[in-house]
Amino acid sequence: MSGLTVRDLVVRFGATAAVDGADVDVAPGAVLALLGPSGCGKSTLLRAVAGLELPTAGTVAWDGTDLAPVPVHRRGFGLMFQDGQLFPHRDVAGNVEFGLRMNSVDRATRRRRVGELLELVGLTGYERRAIPTLSGGEQQRVALARALAPRPRLLLLDEPLSALDRTLRERLSADLSSILAETRTTALYVTHDHDEAFTVADEVAVMAAGRLLQTGAPARLWRHPADERVARFLGYRWFVPAAALRRAGADPDSDWPADDQDPAGSPSGAPGPVTAALRPESLVVDADGSLSGQVVEQRFTRGGTTLLVAVAGVGEVGAWRPGVGALTAGTPVRLRLVPEATALISPPPPAS
Ligand code: ADP
Repeated sequence: MSGLTVRDLVVRFGATAAVDGADVDVAPGAVLALLGPSGCGKSTLLRAVAGLELPTAGTVAWDGTDLAPVPVHRRGFGLMFQDGQLFPHRDVAGNVEFGLRMNSVDRATRRRRVGELLELVGLTGYERRAIPTLSGGEQQRVALARALAPRPRLLLLDEPLSALDRTLRERLSADLSSILAETRTTALYVTHDHDEAFTVADEVAVMAAGRLLQTGAPARLWRHPADERVARFLGYRWFVPAAALRRAGADPDSDWPADDQDPAGSPSGAPGPVTAALRPESLVVDADGSLSGQVVEQRFTRGGTTLLVAVAGVGEVGAWRPGVGALTAGTPVRLRLVPEATALISPPPPAS
């Protein structure tokens, strides 16, 4: 078993099980995002992997070796937190080379490596800058360079971009993704932001109340959430029988890649009625759309209008209309289903 293997991990704080029986695998070179709402136990799981939290039960292993007896500083893991926790009295180079000094790496090698890392994170020439003079985004780039400097066998990132504003977060998450790929870094990435998780990770594990609900590649998770709970967390808000949509004239199965279908036609195998999960973008106002309904209410959002529309035989569902023209309640509209923006949820397997 290579890479990180976590089995049946439980971490309790008094009566609270912050992590309640989690299994996690990260293969060498892969990036796994742990995605879940605040308080679901993500950081505790990451801290237990780092060795900062003592598991109540279960194992954390690297390449099949149990890490229980191995202290934090001997695990060979790098850490990066929301607040970079840089040393304010050292300059940028002093921060980046810190782990190398601890490993007694010679001065010339340290200098070369600091230069390489600053180039990697887009801060070439920043060696002598004082930490308090850097922006929040630059400080996180330095924190990343510092964490990567000793070439950790696993990088643990705990909400590394959460303190930054949205625009900066979007840019840094894209940069982070390419830096992790370029350096073939194996990483476990904790976040509550699904855009960030989907940008950075090869696989995403959705977590709630101390347990992992579903793990999968972003595209698979996005289109086949295991259940309503996962779907809601990903931003799906309306749940209707796929058959009702079909009867009303829209086929949620159309345009689905063939390998997403099983022979029975349901997305992940289990027989029975499939639920279509919809976001506002799943149904778009379009004069040529195959569904017809009536506007119930509308709300202006970024770049367009989110409508609530009553569709006969389906019920009230959200819909999206570019622009901000007012449509009064009762206005008839036609809607087009966007299958790529729609998820299909199979019925749960029969209880054994
Ligand atoms: P997340 O990272 O998903 O926001 P955490 O792992 O920080 O969640 O916390 C999970 C739960 O464990 C929360 O209910 C939190 O209050 C609790 N918790 C975390 N750390 C401690 C601690 N040191 N002592 C007591 N409770 C804690």
